[in-house]
Amino acid sequence: MTRMDDLPIRDELRGKAPYGAPQLDVPVRLNTNENPYPLPEPLVARIVERVTEAARGLNRYPDRDAVELREALAGYLTRTTGHPVARENVWAANGSNEVIQQLLQAFGGPGRTALGFEPSYSMHALISRSTGTGWLSGPRRPDFTLDLAAATEMIAERRPDVVFVCSPNNPTGTAVEVGTVLALYDAAQAAKPSLVVVDEAYVEFSHQDSLVPLLADRPHLVVSRTMSKAFGAAGLRLGYLAADPAVVDAVQLVRLPYHLSAVTQATALAALEHTDTLLGYVEQLKEERDRLVTELRALGCEVTDSDANFVQFGRFDDSHAAWRTLLDHGVLVRDNGVPGWLRVSTGTPSENDAFLEAVRALKKES
Ligand code: PMP
Repeated sequence: MTRMDDLPIRDELRGKAPYGAPQLDVPVRLNTNENPYPLPEPLVARIVERVTEAARGLNRYPDRDAVELREALAGYLTRTTGHPVARENVWAANGSNEVIQQLLQAFGGPGRTALGFEPSYSMHALISRSTGTGWLSGPRRPDFTLDLAAATEMIAERRPDVVFVCSPNNPTGTAVEVGTVLALYDAAQAAKPSLVVVDEAYVEFSHQDSLVPLLADRPHLVVSRTMSKAFGAAGLRLGYLAADPAVVDAVQLVRLPYHLSAVTQATALAALEHTDTLLGYVEQLKEERDRLVTELRALGCEVTDSDANFVQFGRFDDSHAAWRTLLDHGVLVRDNGVPGWLRVSTGTPSENDAFLEAVRALKKES
């Protein structure tokens, strides 16, 4: 039997395992920061209408520039951030993972480096590796906030080509202060200048505002977003970015032609028509997220402040054993490999109750 490592595979991929959380069939799945609410039926019906229309034209390639969709996404950003965003400022791809990949293909690559502050979203490092971009792991304070002095020092010393700022940060949950992002941007411009990518996958759940208004007069700033979380459409695979139009031109040099299928574009447009209903679910989830924080603290857990749809909680002497015990009680959470900590996604009220019950049992057993 041929093993992967027997293949003439690139050296940096040898011995590596693919990224992915376990997809286990358990009663309560709170491990991948999905939105627990299925799409509302009127939206499902609208998707069917839009996709039916798109199906009639599937003999043709889709709109390569996704003009109508980018226009709609620009409208959503303008409406929710108060900052005027035009179609020329927006680019869309199959999930924000693909957005990040395209950014690294255009701005990273062999001989270049990207910096992120860890623990953070591990795909920033993994996509760097797969695009041949060197990865620089920056520090955080013990409470997981960004240490601005250490960060700016590292930027000045290592002069990365791309700087990732994940806000709210996954897996820890807290948003980065606007002043910190501004200082990092200035440091990155003085050092290189480099591209600063703010990953706002969870921003709709934040107590803080989006950083999209910072795009004014900052041509090397990019904000990446997704419809996987707030829009409850992880299965759709639609991510997007807002930036200077020159950045949008640059990613078009590396995108595959017709990367965004006509079915995807039609579905995303239908979802955007139902923005208000979907953002209503976000409000419910924010309340439930805050309840999880309060109740976990009442149970004696340490909890990191959360601006996201998930909560980091601990501390456990053996977080993997705690993960296993919760699983034995029918609740799947995420062990991100942050020693002492686990992460739970906000579910429906009854899923959250089941999770809290499992934590209570875990506390009793330990
Ligand atoms: N950024 C962050 C911080 C994430 O947590 C995720 C998903 N877990 C993504 C980006 C990617 O999301 P998607 O590709 O579904 O848009």
